[in-house]
Amino acid sequence: MQDNRVTRLLGCRHPIVQGGMQWVGRAKLAAAVSNAGALGMLGALTQPTPEALAEEIAHCRTLTDRPFGVNVTMLPTVNPPPYDRIFEVIVRAGIPVVETAGNVPAERFAQLREAGIVVVHKCTSVRHALAAEKRGVDIVSIDGFECAGHPGEDDVPGLVLIPAAVSALSVPVIASGGIADGRGMAAALALGAEGVNMGTRFVATQEAQVHEHIKQALLAARETDTRLIMRTLRNSSRVLLNPVSEEVLRLEGRAGGATFDELRPLVNGQRGRAALEAGDTTGGVIWAGMVAGLIDDIPTCAELVERMVAQCRERLAAAAALAAA
Ligand code: NAD
Repeated sequence: MQDNRVTRLLGCRHPIVQGGMQWVGRAKLAAAVSNAGALGMLGALTQPTPEALAEEIAHCRTLTDRPFGVNVTMLPTVNPPPYDRIFEVIVRAGIPVVETAGNVPAERFAQLREAGIVVVHKCTSVRHALAAEKRGVDIVSIDGFECAGHPGEDDVPGLVLIPAAVSALSVPVIASGGIADGRGMAAALALGAEGVNMGTRFVATQEAQVHEHIKQALLAARETDTRLIMRTLRNSSRVLLNPVSEEVLRLEGRAGGATFDELRPLVNGQRGRAALEAGDTTGGVIWAGMVAGLIDDIPTCAELVERMVAQCRERLAAAAALAAA
């Protein structure tokens, strides 16, 4: 759709990136997104071992000949992943784009850059974005407060965060969080972003390997149906409202709060994964952004990307007509 710094760096036709979501960023989805002209993304930590990640990368290559990326998240985890071997696998596989998130040591960025890999760093504040730019990342993906997963602790929504990041940075900015359609994409581009990242919207697609009940839960959810859990641990996480997230909030709200050990049985990723696979919408925490309120169908990735680009064009043309009037 657009020839800009983001499409050139990422090697895709449309400036749309699929978030490398935990338990969702798998080969079938990433390949479908890349085949649709956007950039698909595997989630490195979704795979149980680095060897399994290498196999997933190889599998993805049998499904698409277009570029796709790998997300490596470095946030607190129950079982610390073997990051050295994960990065080795990525470099050895010749992955062209890596999306990093969390506390990434400078030497990781250097390792990726030396291997000629384009680094997209995901962050939730302008100060972290500036620090990442200084460390040499190629693109910043700025995650507004609306986003699924970890919005940080500053609570700045995209409408302010996107232009603030664009003003502060020299590298291109991808807008993340709060975008589910061509209207959001047009808005993000108008704010100065050169691309958009979507997670929750891609969960509700035909190719996402999550149970139909979870997709239906996203369709049913309104924009008010997410909750921020783990705020008291300064590891805020946006998830769907369900009995598990309500119980986490109840424990956090007690006098004296809750320790992570008390929350672990509720929030641990394996429990969330089992819920996603079984379609048990009340079985664990289910990550989702406020855009759940904007999702009302389950298209293929190709249909989604095509109609998004068309709607974005329409909105930008309508805005241009207004400006010319
Ligand atoms: P997990 O089972 O390791 O942990 C579950 C949740 O508890 C995660 O939110 C994690 O950040 C948090 N957590 C773990 N140890 C903690 C501690 N000591 N103190 C405070 N919080 C702690 O997580 P998982 O579901 O297997 O996911 C693996 C990684 O991917 C985690 O780092 C998770 O945060 C991250 N993730 C990121 C997103 C995102 O939106 N960027 C979404 C899902 C998961």
